[in-house]
Amino acid sequence: MTAKTPFRICVLGAGGFIGSHLVPALLRETNADIEAVDIDLHKLECHDLRLHKVKGTVRDLDLMGAVTDRCDLVISLTALCNPSLYNTRPLDVIDASYTDLVPLCHRCCDRGRRLIHFSTCEVYGRMAIDSSGERTETMMEGQTSLMLGPMDRERWTYACAKQLLERRIWALGKHHGLQFTIIRPFNVIGPRMDFVSGVDGEGLPRVLACFMGALMVGEPLRLVEGGSHRRTFVGIDDFIQAIVKVVKRPDACAQKILNIGNPENEVSIAELAELISAAYVRQVTGATLAGTQEVTAAEFYGEGYDDSVARIPDISRAMELLDWRPKTSLIDALPPIIDDYVSRYASVLAQSRR
Ligand code: UDP
Repeated sequence: MTAKTPFRICVLGAGGFIGSHLVPALLRETNADIEAVDIDLHKLECHDLRLHKVKGTVRDLDLMGAVTDRCDLVISLTALCNPSLYNTRPLDVIDASYTDLVPLCHRCCDRGRRLIHFSTCEVYGRMAIDSSGERTETMMEGQTSLMLGPMDRERWTYACAKQLLERRIWALGKHHGLQFTIIRPFNVIGPRMDFVSGVDGEGLPRVLACFMGALMVGEPLRLVEGGSHRRTFVGIDDFIQAIVKVVKRPDACAQKILNIGNPENEVSIAELAELISAAYVRQVTGATLAGTQEVTAAEFYGEGYDDSVARIPDISRAMELLDWRPKTSLIDALPPIIDDYVSRYASVLAQSRR
């Protein structure tokens, strides 16, 4: 594929954390015009003659029809991807991850548009198991079973809805010719991540934002079930580099599901708390080392929560197809995130505590 094509890309959810990094990268690394669609585009500060900002939602079928008609490639990023919502607003989560996106997938198929859809590593569920139910070290796109909990563990609404949309996209590809790539991101971190509770959002953001919120007000970092669960974190720059390559390699990535993460950056949540506290003290003048406080999942998230014990991606497929490998260590990924949170929130938080 030449750098000139695709010539018009639609990014749905362009105003979110990932979209706000992806759109400038696409402008830099392709010659495409970009239609950036979201209900809130304030995180997307860039301006460019090739960038067309469109305020709207994926629920607006007329808008979705128009953008799929105009664009060669649709990148769909929209979702309610915040674990505290999965058991508290399960119907909204299911609609945002499944119902609202079904017409879009069919439209892409009918119009012959390529679709890059962002799914989630949550589809793997509680832990990596093979087809006979034996635990394995890593999660593999083509081999790992998808292990969700029972119905009263509403944590899995998101994973289940995302999985069903993956199955639908797969079927549209296999039986009706939709050209797609499905991305399964593994805990992407970077500047412009989540809100801080009580400032620009309510409820609980994801773990790094919870920890940053606590650090900035001098409160203990709360460790759900002792912080024993493990995650791998991938820096946003590594992640975006992989996605740009997916965009530029339509044939290699056609009908593929790709884990994008960094297996080297594996920590328990308790270790993450230590790392970020130490980095915060090094970076922020006058900061003192924060403590931690253990909480139960029921206290923290309410009834119906459940968790992934560990999530390590096998990224060999992405490495091979994209000629890519993530480079940023967790230690190196943290300082820009701390800077970003401090510059956006520290003074607001200080004022509200006066
Ligand atoms: N967690 C925690 N303290 C917090 C927020 C989250 O211990 O203040 C835990 C949570 O229970 C989970 C992990 O951190 O085991 C990662 O949670 P996150 O919300 O970032 O998303 P997930 O990786 O589960 O999708």
